Amino acid sequence: MRTKQNYGGLDAFRLLAAILVIANHTSPLTSISLDGDFFLTRILARVAVPFFFMVTGQFVITKFFVSKESAKAELLSYLKKVSLLYIIAILIYIPVGIYAGHYQKLSLYDVFRILFFDGTFYHLWYFPASLIGTTMLYICSRFMSLQKMTIIAGILYCVGLFGDSYFGFIQNVPVIGVVYACAFQIFSYTRNGLFMAPIFLLLGAWMSKFKWKYKKNILVIGVITAFLGMTAEGFLLRSLKVQRHDSMYLMLIPTMFFLYQILMKCKPIQLPRVRLVATWVYILHPAMIVVTRIIGKSLNLSKLLVENSIINFLTVLTLSFLSSYLLVLLIGDLNNKQFQKGRAWIEIHKNALEQNVKFLQEKLPKDCILMPAVKANAYGHGAVMISKALNTMGVRAFCVASVMEGVELRKSGVKGEILILGYTHPKQFSLLWRYRLLQTVVDYEYAVILNQYGKKLHVHLGVDTGMHRLGERSENIARLCMIFDMPNLVIDGMFTHLSAADCMKTKEQIFTKRQIEEFYQLVESLKDIGYTIPKLHMQSSYGVLNYPQIGNDYARVGIALYGMLSTKEDTKSWEDSLSPVLSLKARVASVRTLHPNESAGYGLAYIAEREMSIATITIGYADGLPRSLSNGAGEVLIHGKRAPIIGRVCMDLTIIDVSGISHVKEGDTVVIIGRSENEMISAAELAEKAGTITNEILSRFGSRLERVMK
Ligand SMILES: *Cc1c(COP(=O)(O)O)cnc(C)c1O
Repeated sequence: MRTKQNYGGLDAFRLLAAILVIANHTSPLTSISLDGDFFLTRILARVAVPFFFMVTGQFVITKFFVSKESAKAELLSYLKKVSLLYIIAILIYIPVGIYAGHYQKLSLYDVFRILFFDGTFYHLWYFPASLIGTTMLYICSRFMSLQKMTIIAGILYCVGLFGDSYFGFIQNVPVIGVVYACAFQIFSYTRNGLFMAPIFLLLGAWMSKFKWKYKKNILVIGVITAFLGMTAEGFLLRSLKVQRHDSMYLMLIPTMFFLYQILMKCKPIQLPRVRLVATWVYILHPAMIVVTRIIGKSLNLSKLLVENSIINFLTVLTLSFLSSYLLVLLIGDLNNKQFQKGRAWIEIHKNALEQNVKFLQEKLPKDCILMPAVKANAYGHGAVMISKALNTMGVRAFCVASVMEGVELRKSGVKGEILILGYTHPKQFSLLWRYRLLQTVVDYEYAVILNQYGKKLHVHLGVDTGMHRLGERSENIARLCMIFDMPNLVIDGMFTHLSAADCMKTKEQIFTKRQIEEFYQLVESLKDIGYTIPKLHMQSSYGVLNYPQIGNDYARVGIALYGMLSTKEDTKSWEDSLSPVLSLKARVASVRTLHPNESAGYGLAYIAEREMSIATITIGYADGLPRSLSNGAGEVLIHGKRAPIIGRVCMDLTIIDVSGISHVKEGDTVVIIGRSENEMISAAELAEKAGTITNEILSRFGSRLERVMK
């Protein structure tokens, strides 16, 4: 079974990092020891921001190297999220900035510097730095390897060091000193998106590669050594009085390298809403510094709340966490999307889908394009949700059964080619044109009608090699040539469908090989006559798994993409490579006792022999739960145990026997397909019990089921 992504101690460290940032801006130890405060706020606290960059690196920058499409999607969604936060933060800090007297005499050029480098309040530089850093790395990742980028980012960091804690060494060097002085007109610090962010973003991206490589004690020794080095470096630079600023140290890089890996190895601590709270503490704490001052002044407690550095720090810390937590709760409520798991729903496991895509792509020859079948609402999974998710994984070709399925995808913004495998009525031809859909030519007669439409239509030519369902017969060369000659048809592809590729018995194998041969013979004949051969395809799921050697331009994969095959047996033999994408769940509506000789459900079909405990669950045949599972034929899972279906499955409800399963109550989750603790019911098991194949079960899931992406 796949586990949820493990973030180790990263989440807990976010809070610690936020506290360090507050320390950095309140200098808690100044009342006690200046050296101590320098150590805490100018050295130790300097791990916080690089840590945040590395988290972004690990979860965002890594995706730049997966595929072109996923890189772009990831960048855009990250930029959107961070820009929004930045805008909100800017709005919050305009009044604070006015109060602090920051915005007197601003030129247009100051506005540019503040917006893109310095931030509109001192700590907000982090947001433009993240935006610039990730965008720069995205651009570089289009034509550079991770290694090359890391070297360049390393050089940039060194350049930055000399504008930061090593400034004294170059300040008076001819030319260089002047160059830096000029640069500081554009940005006040080198601690920004150009010089500091890139190396830590990339270091984060490297982290998944180092994940289990080093033993924990080596990492601990590493981090201690590096951090001692950084401490020595900091104090030395301070005593030499060369620091212009104190954010960037040479030893900060090895310190972060080891620290981050230790965090990844730590046991995760579950903290509610920790990510958002940490972000808001970061954004809000300077405002809380101001609030603390105002409170101090108005209550005449300045001596205690402001001048005592430790109390000041603790007050700001408390106020920051309180306000952030309240805000996150409030935003959570505002954002509270309609609750989707009230009655009966499908959970989509995106990770499983991604694994299946990867597995199938590896199975196919390199230049063969995966063209998922998302017909019948993506086999019940939800066509729009699945296709959009596939878009982000780099998939850019789809097939559907009907023109309206294609239109729905286009209207929701699905990118790529969409091939309609079935028949489209001539009255709907305008939709093909308007929504850039590819139509299958189902035979010669249909080609004539398509050609008469008048506008040029892009089509794939269906060829019948033995299934005798759709497609022009492969031996009708003359008719096929006439289709190729039709002026209004742009033939982008040609395909056949294998009708017995699921069975590897001798008879079926011979039949399938004959189908393949006939298709290629046709291709050769057309070539000999002088036609340009369009893109070819013939494999569906079983075609890919049983005949992987066929190297075509596309593979039309349906059922396997959803992590299963048609039968229980086949699903079992591929279970190591394919992970089920969907779970089906419902709720307990009511629990009651059934006395001996009482009946449950319609038609006196079930009579209790003994006293039993029964539960009514919120799913029925209108949702796609087959009525053939009535009266003990089917089971569901509750609290990790199997509960048989009793009586007849109704349209909206089903009754199950929960005798012997303790603590069943209204509102409990019932698993119809999927895992509950250590028990599991697969779609294939359910299909077998219902006397059909998984394809039918999945594609009949009703529109009333809500689809939730996990
Ligand atoms: C549905 C369909 C597919 C996909 O089939 P799977 O067996 O689910 O992979 C491929 N080609 C055609 C013509 C189809 O109708």
